[in-house]
Amino acid sequence: MSSHPTLSPLDLASALHDLHPDLRILGPDALAGRHPGEDPANFNAGVMAQPVSTEAAAALISWCRANHVAIVPQGGLSGLVGGGASRAGEVLLSTARLNRILAIHADEETVEVEAGVTLEALQAALATYGLTTGIDLGSRGSATIGGMVSTNAGGILAFRNGVMRHQILGLEAVLPSGEIFGDMTRVVKVSAGPDLKQLLIGGEGAFGLVTRVVMKVEPVRPHRAVALLGVENAASALTVAARLRRHPRLLLEAAEMMWPRYVRDHATLKGFDLSWLDGDAAVLLVEVSGESAEFARALLEEDLAALWDDAGLKGGIVAQSSDQARRFWDLREESGFYFAAFPNAPSFDVSMPPSALDDYVAGLLATLATIGTGFDAYVYGHIADGNLHVAIAAPGPLPPDLKELVETAVYAGITAAGGSFSAEHGVGLDKRAAYLAHVDPVKQTLSREIKALLDPDTLFNPGKVPF
Ligand SMILES: Cc1cc2nc3c(=O)[nH]c(=O)nc-3n(C[C@H](O)[C@H](O)[C@H](O)COP(=O)(O)OP(=O)(O)OC[C@H]3O[C@@H](n4cnc5c(N)ncnc54)[C@H](O)[C@@H]3O)c2cc1C
Repeated sequence: MSSHPTLSPLDLASALHDLHPDLRILGPDALAGRHPGEDPANFNAGVMAQPVSTEAAAALISWCRANHVAIVPQGGLSGLVGGGASRAGEVLLSTARLNRILAIHADEETVEVEAGVTLEALQAALATYGLTTGIDLGSRGSATIGGMVSTNAGGILAFRNGVMRHQILGLEAVLPSGEIFGDMTRVVKVSAGPDLKQLLIGGEGAFGLVTRVVMKVEPVRPHRAVALLGVENAASALTVAARLRRHPRLLLEAAEMMWPRYVRDHATLKGFDLSWLDGDAAVLLVEVSGESAEFARALLEEDLAALWDDAGLKGGIVAQSSDQARRFWDLREESGFYFAAFPNAPSFDVSMPPSALDDYVAGLLATLATIGTGFDAYVYGHIADGNLHVAIAAPGPLPPDLKELVETAVYAGITAAGGSFSAEHGVGLDKRAAYLAHVDPVKQTLSREIKALLDPDTLFNPGKVPF
């Protein structure tokens, strides 16, 4: 990571104090009592700028460029790959106060928001109009729209609606030069030259600060039914998902799979009854929507009975209340439970074409077992789009030789099969070695050239991705 540690956090805080009336500066004392989010290194810079306008962000960025001070953009701090980690000498540029919902175009099903709006706040505001976001994540309470743009977030609905990139119609950003890039189009169809905003989507804060976006939204489908099903493998889970996706009167809203060790250990911890599950099966959570909750539940039960043998189901339970449905979801969404037993457990977020998942998981678990007796992993994820989360059942960080063996096992065959070493969390600091090993070298060179053009002094989120 290149470094510019010329000014102390206190010096920086005092230099920035009167820079712009729309800029709030928090120094080391103000940051000391705050939670740094998912990465303990997020606040290491010790000074944070919080603009309330794009112009204030531009003034800060121009000052940093003139004074050769590096900037780390931050949103809701829920990122899982160290993309917001910082060091003394850098300035944190937080979107915490860029948090206004600017317009809801209900009939057009689009919304204009500032980057610091959380996903949950946007969902709550849209609910008044009978609308919701076409993307949803377990971290909805803290993840911001700007952070989700910058990591190209995926989540639960990606199998149907695509990822964040597919939700974004328009975008405004402040570039590393301090210039404001404006492309707040509100339409799906734009065939007017290269779509340069795509550089900032998935850009992980390396190409500028996203300040506003125009997003697609969709009607709320409030009437839901949720089931947990025992499945032999991913193929069986995908049979269920495919069948439900083709149902004429139900819409599949989620298909989330938990492999046996994940579901057993988590259920034991929670006191969740798995007596309905046959043997050592994995568990598939499905959620569907329909004309009414009762109707959705009845049709789901009917359809599951019809496909039971074909899909080789190993037991099932349909939620009879919204409370019970929430408990089903907690089993999947409160996924960090294994960190209590295995602090800093090495975690991965990969994607494979869904039909390749069973071979991938079987190969992974077999290879891990050769590394050491009882060496194993928690595997779970968004099955319908092939996105798996893998957490090694061992405390981290692993010693270098073990780390290499584990990473070789996790990433084996992914690129060749058409998958990705990073599905939805980004590269940040933690996955840099994987980026260097698995991304096409020509693409790496082009990315570095574009970065050098936009940010010649590498002041925007230095060291991440890796730039
Ligand atoms: C419990 C839990 C569940 C999760 N589930 C999912 C999931 O299902 N799918 C998924 O995709 N992710 C998931 N995540 C990961 C995380 O929530 C996402 O990566 C999210 O998009 C990060 O948003 P944030 O606002 O918290 O960004 P931050 O963590 O603050 O930042 C993330 C990255 O984006 C950059 N950044 C932030 N804001 C801006 C901006 N305005 N302009 C430029 N760069 C910016 C930062 O520099 C950093 O590199 C989960 C995380 C947790 C803790």
